Amino acid sequence: MNVLILGSGGREHAFAWKISQSPLLSSLYIAPGNPGTAEIGTNLSVQVTDFEGIKQAIKDFHIELVIVGPEEPLVKGIRDFLEADESLQHIGIVGPGKLGAQLEGSKDFSKNFMHKYQIPTAKSQTFIKDTIEEGLEYLTKQSFPIVLKADGLAAGKGVIIAQSLQEAQDTLKEMLLDAKFGDASAKVVIEDFLQGIELSVFVLSDGENYVILPEAKDYKRIRENDEGLNTGGMGAVSPVPFANEKFMERVKQKVVEPTIQGLKTEGIPYQGFIFIGLMNHDGEPYVIEYNARMGDPETEVVLPRIESDFLSLLFASSKGKLNGQKIVLSDQFAVTTMVVSGGYPEDYRKGDEMTGFENVKDALIFHAGTKSVDGKIVTSGGRVMALTGLSNTLENAIQKSQKAANAIQYEGKHFRKDIGLDVLRYNKP
Ligand code: AMP
Repeated sequence: MNVLILGSGGREHAFAWKISQSPLLSSLYIAPGNPGTAEIGTNLSVQVTDFEGIKQAIKDFHIELVIVGPEEPLVKGIRDFLEADESLQHIGIVGPGKLGAQLEGSKDFSKNFMHKYQIPTAKSQTFIKDTIEEGLEYLTKQSFPIVLKADGLAAGKGVIIAQSLQEAQDTLKEMLLDAKFGDASAKVVIEDFLQGIELSVFVLSDGENYVILPEAKDYKRIRENDEGLNTGGMGAVSPVPFANEKFMERVKQKVVEPTIQGLKTEGIPYQGFIFIGLMNHDGEPYVIEYNARMGDPETEVVLPRIESDFLSLLFASSKGKLNGQKIVLSDQFAVTTMVVSGGYPEDYRKGDEMTGFENVKDALIFHAGTKSVDGKIVTSGGRVMALTGLSNTLENAIQKSQKAANAIQYEGKHFRKDIGLDVLRYNKP
């Protein structure tokens, strides 16, 4: 099978790494890819939103399966675009169409969906510019903290947790009147704050059937102890000890089943990943958000724990044939640590030469924001590289990941030293 992966981050490198292990694979292409994916397959210089370019690449390289990594092409309708071409009817696509991608692309849509199908989630109400007075009034009757969410995609920045009525009202005005997040905040969802521990559950659906992939916990803040600014993700751990069998059964019954059923009832075909961000509140799952793709860096801990042929699962999902497919998981712990550029998540350094790869002996290296210049690898993004340690114990997996993060060298390197330590403490109260 000839496969095309769209994207250029650590997530896509992890996809490429996993898929390259499949006996079903003939040729692997990644658009645009990164220096890590170039070692496994062929990078194509086509951007993920260049739909015409992607279509041409599918034809030129006789692609049979397209895997869409990031959300932007999904929300912009890459599936709908490709499906509209008569000559591409035979290809499989992993990733929903524009309708399904609204689960991620519109918080208002996803909250309405959850309320309609009684999927546990925080109480919420949506406001626009014309109803701002009602929104400000609504806030006076709520308790704090409270959560304000820009409806549309805002590069992970559109969620504000307001600690007081004043802050909440000011934020609502900024979002609706001053377009704080551009068009994305033309609608704002105001939602109750949920207490608890967060985790993410990943589902691969074919529209009818589904498999649940390993769960993960990620670390969003730039500094240890979850302090400092929000980032795209500084690390992740899988499995998550509080996601025990009882809790995961609840997730399945109360969240996954009604989500799949709800999509069917709405007439929304869905072949692809559903990433469910959950709050575990006293053993009960509440949905914080849906994403229409895998997480990054969660993919870098989820895929290494899948022992089954992943390409076979992806192809089955794209063809509506997941029924009866079993997923075999490893018992190992996976921990990934992201090394990031100096300054990130604000203005950050770029173009620093990276060395020390040969000293990473017992961890997986997933390139994220790197570039190859004159045979050297240099930093080119905020999040530079994910280093995944695998072991039978969580302690060892943490150590392997941290050792690898230490071994990689470049000017301005930063990484969190506490990835997985909270989970370790939870394991050993
Ligand atoms: P989202 O983009 O919806 O995932 O929100 C980003 C982050 O904000 C989440 O990962 C949570 O840490 C936090 N968050 C979002 N909604 C809530 C909520 N209702 N209660 C508590 N924290 C929340």
